[in-house]
Amino acid sequence: MKNEFPCDKCGLCCKNLNKSELYSDLHDGSGICRYFDDETNLCRIYDHRPLKCNILASYDFFKDKYSLDEYIRLNVKECKKLKGEL
Ligand code: SF4
Ligand code: SF4
Repeated sequence: MKNEFPCDKCGLCCKNLNKSELYSDLHDGSGICRYFDDETNLCRIYDHRPLKCNILASYDFFKDKYSLDEYIRLNVKECKKLKGEL
């Protein structure tokens, strides 16, 4: 398995949690995660972040459905959507 996801740390996924019910426990309705540090643009609990925030570690749940390359491609597509590139 590749050990890196091509993340540029834009922080947009952590600021748009209201796009998915899965992350409703991490924000108060604003869509911005309670653990997001807007000074550093990083996660304050990165080493202990929930599994659902760890794209590569979550692949286990999708491995019967997608190849790893396809799974990464689909996730990169979601990043691009958040950036307004698609
Ligand atoms: S939206 Fe994608 S590129 Fe931006 S921080 Fe999240 S995972 Fe990384
Ligand atoms: S816990 Fe960290 S990685 Fe997960 S959404 Fe919040 S800030 Fe982002």
